[in-house]
This record gives sequence, C-alpha cells and structure tokens, in this order.
Amino acid sequence: MEQTNVPQVMFLPFPAQGHIKPMMKLAELLNQAGSHVTFVNTDHNHDRLMSHTNLTSFHDRSPNFLFRSIPDGLRPDKARSVSNIRELLDTLQTVARPAFRQLLISTSVRPTCIIADGIMSFAAIDVAEELGIPVITFRTYSASCTWTNFHLSKLIEIGEVPFPDGNLDKSITCIPGYENVLRSRDLPSICRVEKAEDPLLNFYIRETSTMTRASALILNTFHELEAPVISILNSIFTKIYTIGPLHALYKSRISQSDSSNCIGLWKEDKSCMTWLDSQPLRSVIYVSFGSLVNLTHLQALEFWYGLVNSGKQFLWVVRTDLIVGESGIDPMELEMVTKERGFIVSWAPQEEVLAHPAVGGFLTHSGWNSTLESINAGVPMICWPQIADQQVNSRCVSEVWKTGFDMKDTCDRSTVEKLVRDLIDSKREDIMKSTDKFARLADNSVKQGGSSYSNLEKLFEDIRSMSP
Ligand code: UDP
Repeated sequence: MEQTNVPQVMFLPFPAQGHIKPMMKLAELLNQAGSHVTFVNTDHNHDRLMSHTNLTSFHDRSPNFLFRSIPDGLRPDKARSVSNIRELLDTLQTVARPAFRQLLISTSVRPTCIIADGIMSFAAIDVAEELGIPVITFRTYSASCTWTNFHLSKLIEIGEVPFPDGNLDKSITCIPGYENVLRSRDLPSICRVEKAEDPLLNFYIRETSTMTRASALILNTFHELEAPVISILNSIFTKIYTIGPLHALYKSRISQSDSSNCIGLWKEDKSCMTWLDSQPLRSVIYVSFGSLVNLTHLQALEFWYGLVNSGKQFLWVVRTDLIVGESGIDPMELEMVTKERGFIVSWAPQEEVLAHPAVGGFLTHSGWNSTLESINAGVPMICWPQIADQQVNSRCVSEVWKTGFDMKDTCDRSTVEKLVRDLIDSKREDIMKSTDKFARLADNSVKQGGSSYSNLEKLFEDIRSMSP
C-alpha cells in the first residue's frame, strides 16, 4: 500500500439512513478541510443513493471523495427495514465483514485512519489492527444511549434485563447519572427480549465492548446538551469529539453551492414547502417516524384520528414502506379528510421543514438525528419511540431536557389528540422555555469558538497529525 502525506480517511457507516447521513456530513467536512475520503456503503444503498444523485457534479466539486461499496448479503428483494434487521445483522457479519477486509487490503493508498460506525466495529477493528491503521469510532447515538449500552451486561447480571415479570415501570438504578431518570421501558429496545442470550442484545453488548479498542470516539451531540454523561464517558475514551448537531455544523461551514445537500437514500418531495408557506405561524404539527420504523394499519389509523380530531394542521411523512400488515384503512376516507387539514409526502426535506416558521411541533419516533434536528430548530416534540436508542432519547427529551412529551408504549387517538393540543396550545409556553434555551445552545456550539466547532477543528488536526 502506498502512503501519502495528505490524510486519507475511510468511512464505514452502518447501512441505514440515520447512520449514513451524519457520517456523510462529517466526510464532506473532512474532505473540504483537505482530506481525501473514501465512503463505503453497501451495494444496495450505493445503488439507491446513485439513483437520485448527480454524481458527476458531486465529483466535479469534490474530486477527492470516492464512493466504494460492498455487499450486505441480503437478497436484493428483501426490505432493509426493521422487519429484517436480525437477518441483516447476520449477513453483515458473514458477508460484509470479509468484503470490507478485502476492500481494505486491496486498496492502493493506505488510509490514514478509518472512521467506523460504532455498530460496524465487528467489520472494521480486527482488520485495522492487523494492518496498523487507527480507527476512530463514530457512535451515531446520543451520549446518554451510548452510556446506557455500556451497562447492558450489568443489567443482565443483576436480573433487570430481560424485564422480570414484564414490569416496565421498574426504576433502573445501576446506570450512574441516570438513577432518577430511567425505567425499564426507557432502556434501549434491545432489552425487550425474552432471553438474556438473545442474539440482537448480545450483538450490541459485543459491539459496545469492541468499539472501546478504537483510539477515539465521535458523537453527534453537543457538550451543553449532555455534559455530565460526556465527562463520564471520558473514563472509557480519553478522546471524545462531540461535534453535533452535525447538520448545523455542516451548514455553518459548507456554503450552499458547495453542498451535496447531503446525499440521502430517499428522494425529497419539496411540494410540502409551498403548502407550509400557506399555513399560519407555529400552527402545523410535523409527523415523521424516520426511515426504518413500521406502523400497523391500526396504529396508523389511531395517529390519523388523533391528528384530525386535534383540529390542527399536519404534515405527515408516509414512506411507501411505512405501513405494514393487513389493511383496515379506507383510503378514500383518509384522503378526503386529510386534504382539508393535512398534507402527506413520502419523504420530506426534514431539516427545511423543521426550520419553517409554520411548524409548531414534531410528532417523532425519536431517532437521534430527528431529535437533534428538532432541538436545533427549537421545535418541541411528541415522542413515540419504537426501536434501538429511541426509548432512551424520548425519556431524555421529556425528563432531562424538557423539550417535549413522551407517549412511549401508548398509541391511541385520544392521547395523540391531547398531546398535539398541549404542544401547539395549552402547554406551549412551559415547554418553549427549555426548547428555546437548547436551540440557542445548539446554535452557539456550531459557531466559531463554540464547543462543536472547536472539537471538529481538533479532529481535523489530530487526523492530520496521523499522516506520515
Ligand atoms: N428524514 C428526512 N425526511 C423525512 C424523514 C426523515 O430527511 O421525510 C431524515 C431526518 O432529517 C433524519 C434522518 O432522515 O436526519 C432520520 O434519522 P433518525 O436518526 O431520526 O431516524 P432513523 O431513520 O435512523 O430511524
């Protein structure tokens, strides 16, 4: 392998929108600061990205930014959503891991370092150690959830996971800093299993432990939001770069004309922006469950009735693969009433939507990117977490940062109706104090001299110093 003194950074994200997006933003920022970048997607995601990306103009702007791809091992016709996550994790380990190893071994220019997703450690760390290439681990979750994951083994050992007697309201006391915050129901969804030997739970335990072999940790959060837990995590990682909200840092440092507009897996439907322009200030509730969560027809109906009965306007992202199972919905009825009071798109320009003055609240699945984007935009949330880190995020939103309400483990129209009214009208003043405060702090953190801005500079410097 040839070596150069220009930093060569290889990125390996987990193959999902919420992981690719922040890693892509960081990759572009590093590229703009002079590093050459190789971004490794799975073949499936690579094809999706390229189907609506003008690669020629991207490469004209960023000639030293390469895309490579490896197989994920799933049959092409299989959905890459929650329903197949266990199978995907298996095939990533059996197929993508050796493929990444092969790609790395056969690459002509030696990477200065690999920035690997925290849950792709199984693919990156062994081979990087073998070749003597430093790895920086990028955990795309909050610091709070990252810290919680470090206690999974302990929770099993003391019998709190799997949940004894199915009691979801038991207080969790073995996670320092979160003694008065978390209940069983607020733990990551992987704890909702029948046996401690569950493969998904054990995958997370292994990955959390493997990622500590990395030389440093990157988190898409900002110091002012999670300072206490970031300093506890310093006992595990001596170097932590908190560089969030990355989408805001990206905007503050990359001019619109140079931006790829962050390549994503879905094509955005911008028609909703014109609709939003016609709505009164802070009147609309934006509804999105991210890129992976599925809803049954019954759940979709409860949300829909709740939204319509609230009397508020809503903008709802209904991905083509969002609703699964047998249909109980009369599409004619939905469409007629929705047209009066709402707007549906299959994928929204979410950052722009949240920044629009007509948006007054966000009904979200509490994915970490969505949570940060909402905090940054100063939009309060109603949280309906389903998988992965979402349960922890929604608890922090409602109990620690107090920027929203958590409707975890309920899904009925009357709760939706009440919370939408509370958020837009009756409890708005209370919730906006904290929401405005954190929006300001997020904004300051990405400005020159701010915590995330400075940490990004340190990361650039540290990567430069790794070059020969
Ligand atoms: N997103 C978007 N348009 C949509 C829905 C989501 O651009 O209609 C983006 C959103 O801005 C966020 C990401 O997709 O950056 C979803 O990531 P998150 O971590 O919130 O959830 P996940 O999809 O991983 O469950």
